[in-house]
Amino acid sequence: MSTRIDRPAIDPPLALLAELTHRCPLRCPYCSNPVALARASEELSAAEWIGVLREAAALGVLQVHFSGGEPMARRDLAQLIAAASEHGLYGNLITSGTLGGSAEIEVFAKAGLKHVQLSFQDVAPDNADRIAGLAGAHGRKTAFAAAVRAAGLPLTLNMVVHRQNLRGLPDMIDMALALGARRLEVAHVQYYAWALVNRAAFLPSRAELDEATAVVKAARERLKGVLTIDYVIPDYHARRPKSCMNGWGRQFINIMPTGKAVPCHAAETLPGLDFPSVRDSSLADIWYRSAAFNRFRGTDWMAEPCRSCERREIDWGGCRCQAFQLAGDASRTDPVCALSPDHELVGAALAGAAASPPAFVYRQYR
Ligand code: SF4
Ligand code: SF4
Repeated sequence: MSTRIDRPAIDPPLALLAELTHRCPLRCPYCSNPVALARASEELSAAEWIGVLREAAALGVLQVHFSGGEPMARRDLAQLIAAASEHGLYGNLITSGTLGGSAEIEVFAKAGLKHVQLSFQDVAPDNADRIAGLAGAHGRKTAFAAAVRAAGLPLTLNMVVHRQNLRGLPDMIDMALALGARRLEVAHVQYYAWALVNRAAFLPSRAELDEATAVVKAARERLKGVLTIDYVIPDYHARRPKSCMNGWGRQFINIMPTGKAVPCHAAETLPGLDFPSVRDSSLADIWYRSAAFNRFRGTDWMAEPCRSCERREIDWGGCRCQAFQLAGDASRTDPVCALSPDHELVGAALAGAAASPPAFVYRQYR
């Protein structure tokens, strides 16, 4: 069981990310799943997931995001969607759209699914399939998008962008419109897990980033009321870090395929933290009282320059995982911040990516 710590006034999580499996037919070189993947035999059972969903609703969680890997690799997905719906949770499916079509999506809609978020690798099929590491993936995704709309479900397209597909951004926006999406997320690669391995192959130049930002700005004006465009820039070009997960243990709880609970995708890589599992702790114990979820909560853990910074309750010192990955210490200021004493590490990474991009190292699932 987790170490008990008494803490006042912590809000319940807003959303739970249910990482149902690490299995996926794609091999995206920016995949946020860990470099060491969980095996199917280690995954939580349907009964265990249903217990998690029941506890989440009781805790005050409002949304559940069914994710992976590819969540449609789980044959019991419809059962889990139904359980979420019965407990009043807003169910969102985050999928690559390559393991099913109309038949599956209609079952999910009947089970109570509320929304689908579908990822694309590019607008050009050949390059999209090359990045995904699966021939024919783009065509399947396009068909899946049509099935989602035919089932009457709202659709968000997720376009992960980088130096090897950015030039197609205007066409990506047109594709989102043509596929009937209400929302488009244009997300530059964030450098964790496989994306960190492939960082030099992805990092855009400042000029490429500025051009993309101008395209998004113009499209937002032009498509006001038609298509909402979310835009996530690559950290490394920013002067201040993102508010990672809106703060450690403030709004989000991720449950990994094996039941381990973490505040974000990459947190499992942090040393010295014992992340509890839903197999031996209640969700309430994990959220309110575990040492791991309290370690970087709020501002008490901060050293300078964050401790006295006016942005400390805006960006919460940036990303703990990035601080560890770049500076070797999760309690340091995110090196992306220009005020960080480690900021030159980011400049060195940008300089290292200036040459022609190396070949991808693909994610593998054995
Ligand atoms: S990023 Fe790509 S490989 Fe990773 S889970 Fe998503 S679709 Fe699969
Ligand atoms: S010093 Fe810390 S709190 Fe201030 S902007 Fe940088 S990361 Fe954010």
